[in-house]
Amino acid sequence: MIWSVAAYWHWTNQSVASAQLHFFDIGQGDAMYLRTLSGKDILIDGGPDRLLVNQLGQAMPFWDRTIEIMVLTHPHLDHVAGLVEVFNYYQVNQLVLEPVQYNNAAYEALLAVANQQHTTIQIVHTGDTITLGPLEQFTVLYPFAETNLTALKDVNDTSIVLRYDLASVQPRSVLLMGDATQLVEDQLLQAGLMTDVDILKVGHHGSRYSSTADFIQASQPEYAIIQSGAGNSYGHPHAETLARLAPVATVLRNDQLGTITFSIQPDGTYRQYY
Ligand SMILES: [Zn+2]
Repeated sequence: MIWSVAAYWHWTNQSVASAQLHFFDIGQGDAMYLRTLSGKDILIDGGPDRLLVNQLGQAMPFWDRTIEIMVLTHPHLDHVAGLVEVFNYYQVNQLVLEPVQYNNAAYEALLAVANQQHTTIQIVHTGDTITLGPLEQFTVLYPFAETNLTALKDVNDTSIVLRYDLASVQPRSVLLMGDATQLVEDQLLQAGLMTDVDILKVGHHGSRYSSTADFIQASQPEYAIIQSGAGNSYGHPHAETLARLAPVATVLRNDQLGTITFSIQPDGTYRQYY
């Protein structure tokens, strides 16, 4: 019975646990969804609208209605707005925020729905870690506790910068820069916090003021992901940024490829598809 052998192989192959990392195609904005090896669901930013919920519905197992951790890197609309709608469909256990509070409507709506769901709010700084499983954790690289965030001219530079680490046979790291610019990159370099990573979510949608040559040299990503919408009015990604990234990394763009997904096996081998 060749058919049943094939079906069995298919079933066993499907049940091998791997971490899934999706950079969603949600137009101009950031939205990343990670299903960890241990089956936790993590959402980092939500894009500008309900496109996020559609994408999440396709990527998450249909029977799973719980997001263990939601992270808002900073409260600009292209990151926060889509997150509000998520609460209508999922239980969100924990919401990770930067220390500064804002008074834009979408941000306030997010706090209100989180409050209704009794979601735990966690404010993070450099050095904080979030354990995701036996092999997996987030490390917060920014903001520093001593940074006066309200004095910064650019709210983008209040972005939470996170690194996801998988401590497997071949260790893997994913660096998520939010919309941080050179100002933050320079501080991370000076603080000695930059390490070689495998996947870089490029800061600020590939703007020319992020991803300096020094920063790219230090992070050495194999893949650089740019979350930007087709035909966006900001000119993201900038040609100069693309030129700086190209010699080091394979650049993958949501505006060209749609949703970009990585599958990472427990031993650290990984592959990318879109
Ligand atoms: Zn943005």
